[in-house]
Amino acid sequence: MASHRKHVYFGLRALFLSFGILLGGIAVHAQQAAVAPPSADAKPATDADFIAAADEVLGQMSQITGLKLVTPLKKSLRSREEIRAYVIKQMDEEKNPAERYAGERSAEAFGLLPKGFDLDAFMVNVLTEQVEGLYDPKTREFYIADWSPLADQRMVMAHELTHALEDQHFQIEAWVKAARPNEDAELARDAVLEGSAMAAMVDYLMLGTGRSLKDLPEFDPSMLIGDLGSTPTLQKAPPFLKDALIFPYLGGLTFSAAVMKNSGWSALPGLFEKPPVSTQQILHPGLYRSGKTPASVALPRLEKVFGDNWSKLDENIMGEFGWKEVLKQFLDNDRAKTLAAAWDGDRYVLYEHKQTKKLILVTRLHLDSEEHAARFFGQYSEAFEKKYSERTNLLRRPNFFSFDTPDGGVFLRCLGDECVTLEGTTRNIFDAFTKALNWPLAPQPLEKLGSVPAKTAMASAPGENIVAASGVGLSSQLPTEQYVLTLHAERQEASNRLFASNLPESSAGLQDTQRSTPQALSLCAAPPACGFGGDHTLHLRDSVLPSNRRCIGTACHREPV
Ligand SMILES: [Zn+2]
Repeated sequence: MASHRKHVYFGLRALFLSFGILLGGIAVHAQQAAVAPPSADAKPATDADFIAAADEVLGQMSQITGLKLVTPLKKSLRSREEIRAYVIKQMDEEKNPAERYAGERSAEAFGLLPKGFDLDAFMVNVLTEQVEGLYDPKTREFYIADWSPLADQRMVMAHELTHALEDQHFQIEAWVKAARPNEDAELARDAVLEGSAMAAMVDYLMLGTGRSLKDLPEFDPSMLIGDLGSTPTLQKAPPFLKDALIFPYLGGLTFSAAVMKNSGWSALPGLFEKPPVSTQQILHPGLYRSGKTPASVALPRLEKVFGDNWSKLDENIMGEFGWKEVLKQFLDNDRAKTLAAAWDGDRYVLYEHKQTKKLILVTRLHLDSEEHAARFFGQYSEAFEKKYSERTNLLRRPNFFSFDTPDGGVFLRCLGDECVTLEGTTRNIFDAFTKALNWPLAPQPLEKLGSVPAKTAMASAPGENIVAASGVGLSSQLPTEQYVLTLHAERQEASNRLFASNLPESSAGLQDTQRSTPQALSLCAAPPACGFGGDHTLHLRDSVLPSNRRCIGTACHREPV
């Protein structure tokens, strides 16, 4: 019996669990829909009741899923203390302390967790608070919480016994681990396991109604979410943790429902034979069906560039789900979702200073088009501004954005359909990084180009002073409906330089410039060349991104090298 589930996400590893939060939602929904769980019974269960119920539910789940029981299952009622001890033991076995530390610090570097967040303690608390049952594939044993009424236990059984049956046919633990070291692909496989177990649970609830999940075209999995108020630890959790814990269950359920829509449970073995390769395929089942696979993204070895004081702590793939979560920290949910959907492969590496424990985060992201890379550039610039409130020496160019912070420099650069970021280091390191990628040198701050007085520079080379990309950060901060920009590069460039060199405390970028020079902001030096046509006005929210795109790779994009 057993259902252990492991979610690996930045060391966030649960077990093959049934969460009270999900079951709470299901129970409410079942009552609302007048679909009572079979044999509902609120009496305290005796061991004999429990064994009888488990055997009955096991037979029903075998019927629902089409998976025959191959060998008998061990089953046991467990106390909260026993389940807590099991959870802690599993967490220790799944990842060693160094791996868990690396995961926590990666999440911190991406802005997904507060600095110093104790992920281990959180996980133990939330799991102990939430767990209603679990399946341990190592011992092939099914545990159920002895504090739940038998009616709830039956729903937990429906879920966990689906894991047990899948394990007998598809060896679920080895199957999930086969995705390693790609954590995005591993999370996608988790979603198959949890999602199919949720789907089976829904079908279990509908037994006797003559219908099943595939007959519910408008089924909204979020209705399964119970009251977060009943789970104080989860309620207080950083949003990323809530999402990461719930994703395999609800994202996986939506995915499973889509895949099984036509042929029902006979489609299940195909999911194990041909697993989804990324969370993108879970989020967009059509991409699973069409077989769209992400680009394989490599990062150059940077150990020599960073020097002996730095060691590599972590390296992995964020995936669409991971980037959506990162973007959501700083942008609104809809923008994060739309932007992350353009994901087409990524890789990140995290380095840590051996003494100071400072971090350097390197990412490389492949987007599905140049247009979307330009959009990512714009919106991730804005995200960076929100992530780092203390900024100096801000430099903004059509496809390059950088500034200094007390924790080191922050860099974002896009070229074609790719973007790279570097956080926590210096311009020289960034240059060495892009050189290793065979990318051209990023634009230099104007001060470094020579001591040309501002007025001379503006007069002599207006076409060179390109600020095309910098609508970023504006859309959320300026009036959006009627706001029109008619801007000139010279002014912006001068403002940028002024702020960068003389007024570091005001280097927050365009929005600060906007406050100082409300009459004009520059989006592009040479509007016709940038595709603005004869109309040199831009409605910010509508036009920043396309203008961005047009500027990149056109005459407007001339980097002063
Ligand atoms: Zn599960």
